[in-house]
Amino acid sequence: MTTHRKKSSNDHNHLSERLRAMSANIWWTWNPEAQRLFFRLAPQLWRDSNHNAFEVMREISDQELTARLHDADFAHKARTVLADFDAYTQSESTWARRHAAKLKNPVAYFSAEFGLHESLPIYSGGLGVLSGDHIKSASDLGLPFIGITLFYREGYFQQRIGPDGWQQELYPANKPEQFPITLVESNAGGRLLNSVQIGHSTVFFQAWAMRVGRATLYLLDTNLPENDLHFQGLTSHVYGGNIDTRIGQEIVLGIGGVRLLESLGVTPSVYHMNEGHSAFLVLELLLRELKAGSDRGEAERRVRSKCMFTTHTPVPAGHDRFSPELMSHTFGSYWSTSGMSMEDLLAFGRIHATDAAENFTMTVLALHMSRAANGVSKLHGSVSREMWKDLYPGTEVKNVPIGSVTNGVHTPSWASVHAHDFWNQRLGVDWTDKLMEPKFWKKIQSEELASDEELWALRYALRRDLVEFARRRMREQTMRVGGDGWGAFSKMLSPDALTIGFARRFATYKRAPLVFRDFEKILSLLTNHDRPVQILFAGKAHPRDNEGKKFIQKIVEFTHHPLLYGKVVLLENYDINVARHLVSGCDVWLNTPRRPLEASGTSGQKIGIHGGLNLSILDGWWREGYNGENGWAIGDDGNDPDQDRQDALDAEHLYRALADKVIPEFYNRDEAGIPRAWIRRIRNAMETLVPMFSTDRMVAEYITTYYLG
Ligand SMILES: *Cc1c(COP(=O)(O)O)cnc(C)c1O
Repeated sequence: MTTHRKKSSNDHNHLSERLRAMSANIWWTWNPEAQRLFFRLAPQLWRDSNHNAFEVMREISDQELTARLHDADFAHKARTVLADFDAYTQSESTWARRHAAKLKNPVAYFSAEFGLHESLPIYSGGLGVLSGDHIKSASDLGLPFIGITLFYREGYFQQRIGPDGWQQELYPANKPEQFPITLVESNAGGRLLNSVQIGHSTVFFQAWAMRVGRATLYLLDTNLPENDLHFQGLTSHVYGGNIDTRIGQEIVLGIGGVRLLESLGVTPSVYHMNEGHSAFLVLELLLRELKAGSDRGEAERRVRSKCMFTTHTPVPAGHDRFSPELMSHTFGSYWSTSGMSMEDLLAFGRIHATDAAENFTMTVLALHMSRAANGVSKLHGSVSREMWKDLYPGTEVKNVPIGSVTNGVHTPSWASVHAHDFWNQRLGVDWTDKLMEPKFWKKIQSEELASDEELWALRYALRRDLVEFARRRMREQTMRVGGDGWGAFSKMLSPDALTIGFARRFATYKRAPLVFRDFEKILSLLTNHDRPVQILFAGKAHPRDNEGKKFIQKIVEFTHHPLLYGKVVLLENYDINVARHLVSGCDVWLNTPRRPLEASGTSGQKIGIHGGLNLSILDGWWREGYNGENGWAIGDDGNDPDQDRQDALDAEHLYRALADKVIPEFYNRDEAGIPRAWIRRIRNAMETLVPMFSTDRMVAEYITTYYLG
């Protein structure tokens, strides 16, 4: 007996340690069984920490954990999840092994933001979410991969909506001890310290490491007593502060990132700049080549051969630009070691090298110094070629060397627990390994795999989840501004009504209020007694974007309209968690950008696995995703230079699509109560969109077209 006890207690100690280690790798963010385990350990803490497994494990003492592991069922589940984790992290037979064995050294992927999970608020929006999904798929495919970003102590803001409908911004502290990160140490032990030169100041930074499955993300952090107070806060906020903050952050990210890799002894096979924010890295690489003895031409060629660049911004104003004065001031002492003049430096970031009035543009720097560049959808690729054609004089626009890789999403991260369970049962638990296999997704057409009735049951379950989540959130929101918490929240929203979602950053080009442009029209559609429709909104406006904030206020006003109350709802604090609820519960995902300003858009790609359908302007990814049967288009490729006229036209097309197609198809039920045509459309959407718009496909495309190139 005693020996048996002893053995089992050793086993439990071992299990405890391994559970702790597993919680420190954010693999659990895309594994529902792992999440269930942590939820089960501390349900309220799991909720309060915004589903942070690492926080849960931090609070749970060794005594408690040992005791809890005496629950045989719990211990069994823990062992199962740990076995999955080990199989994942140790697997030798990965896609990259088979298809990219040549890539031995890691890809170094630089991005100013990473949206990995709701408990890690170091992202602002789509760009961050894309980076997060990119690194997760890189891990899933087994690609040697390192991400580089900044550790934002106050992250991006939490949004509150005041009683007047105006957005308020709160910045809770991101405490390193609450994050699944560890301080990077030097070989000699102790914190690894590096520095960059900003103007006349030396700015020190340390780095944190986060394990993302098989990949590693490094987060650079200037919050150090060694720095002047003002530089201690340099990396506090995502896109925070003024232009000096911006250039300083970008120096830490780009130049600091290269120095970190160097001090870690990592030689990347490729430096991938995700958007121009990190493009200063090419300057550091250039200086290193010069120092090693290359002449200038050779140095440039060598840097170019290692770098690639992805642009995301189809609006000229959206690109980072710095004045020649700011550049000279900030780079004077750094650049003085290069043997080149300040004019030489400025020329790297200019379309017309000798135009003294031209600002330094990060995108131009990145394009100049990369061996390859791409936009993030086919349409955006062609918009980008047009936009940057002056950089390539004598080249026809169609031959401008900017290609495209259309964005995708990391489906396992976005699939709700319900959806995971549903597809595990029907497609087998390894469906997440087959995300980019179009043939596999053809199965969705089969009634044997999932009947119309079962798909409709899934839709109901997901819509119900969303409605309840929204009611809970609305109650909290209302109580906070002094409203009555026990009001009519249970009557808000209907689990039977056609549910439309609109959630994304409140950038004005996305035109959130477009659906209200003709108020009488939308009112009659939303309030039809037999065919009710409801709309949920969510999204943050950039703190300095007053026009975006006015849009939020406008939507809030509609939510207060007596006839729309409980039918139009705005959930505050859009984040990855709110997004996951919305993309799973909404029947229709609405997107109304002003063409062609939506470079890709990704939120509409998250709904496929849940049986949601897109209703969107033919912009970004939807321009190539839509096939006539897997969702709906709003309007066509037309583009009136008169913005107001185009807005009116798009609104008109939107009402027509809703009234003539979307609403009738949703409510056209057979004797069994099933909307057959609707479900046919869901099957078409899943078959065609899930494999195409997955980050597995996207990362595989980056590998074969660019990383290996
Ligand atoms: C997916 C997502 C985005 C990006 O959505 P778009 O459609 O590209 O605008 C932004 N924020 C969050 C929280 C998301 O989950």
